[in-house]
Amino acid sequence: MTSYSRVALVTGANRGIGLAIVRSLCQQFPGDVVLTARDAAQGHAAVQQLQAEGLSPRFHLLDICNRQSIRALRDFLLKEYGGLDVLINNAGIAIKDDRTSLHLQAEMTMKTNFFCTRDVCTELLPLVRPQGRVVNLSSTLSLVALKFCSPELQQKFTSETITEEELVGLMNKFVEDTKNGVHLKEGWPSVKLVPYAVSKVGLTVLSRIQAWKLSEQRAGDKILLNSCCPGWVRTNMGGPEALKSPEEGAETPVYLALLPSNAKGPHGEFVLEKKVVQWEPGVELPAWLEVCGVL
Ligand code: NAP
Repeated sequence: MTSYSRVALVTGANRGIGLAIVRSLCQQFPGDVVLTARDAAQGHAAVQQLQAEGLSPRFHLLDICNRQSIRALRDFLLKEYGGLDVLINNAGIAIKDDRTSLHLQAEMTMKTNFFCTRDVCTELLPLVRPQGRVVNLSSTLSLVALKFCSPELQQKFTSETITEEELVGLMNKFVEDTKNGVHLKEGWPSVKLVPYAVSKVGLTVLSRIQAWKLSEQRAGDKILLNSCCPGWVRTNMGGPEALKSPEEGAETPVYLALLPSNAKGPHGEFVLEKKVVQWEPGVELPAWLEVCGVL
């Protein structure tokens, strides 16, 4: 019987928090680490940067919004490793350009952050081996959006019986409501970066649903799947004023990726600063949200 190496994979890892996660995993994960990026030149440049630091990540192309690209990566993983041990869904976008209409912002952001990340999970979760770890990079802005949306939406997003299909319907409805200019009337929140915040509500809730499904369908496999917020991090997305370096931003995702094999949790939780934060509208929000102008 062939014995395969263990393997960890990070999406959107050519820069920012994703690159810092790969660096940290190369130092700590007992197996191969695959740095993925949608642009080959930028991906190779990131690999070379880490090689210059004495680390040895592998590279594979991945555009999370291209199903063929995801499937090519899946085939590579099956051929080279027979499965996957750690999946970190880090790739994401936030549009801060006021010239782009709210509807277009909603459509583009929802596509990448929710639908494309979901496509990666659909293709790669079946490969995750027993005791595997899955980490979805969400955001504390998802909690802000939960706090400020209507009680009806709050009830739906915190429901323990919501299905993936119902969640997909809600995410599509948000995009449609922005197109028709009725998003506020329909109970979506009036918060800064609302398309990003709602797309991350989708990702946090999707992570809960995925974890419940794993517990039900692969109960003995002890896979732990969580969403998390890296904090406010100095990257292209977070901007130069942010409080954390990319390395500090990588700490919580890496902690979740390296939960010991006998860990029973966290599972299906939203994690910030390595601590579970309750997914409920009344939860106290961190003070740095005021500093970054979100509250
Ligand atoms: P970033 O510097 O903007 O990097 C985003 C990464 O995602 C880039 O590598 C980008 O690739 C990649 N990406 C975007 N669309 C992609 C696609 N379709 N396929 C593959 N890769 C794609 O952002 P960051 O700050 O490191 O953020 C990483 C994650 O943390 C995101 O999910 C973000 O929402 C989350 N987060 C960040 C902060 C913060 O303060 N920075 C706070 C909370 C949550 P290209 O270089 O090709 O564009």
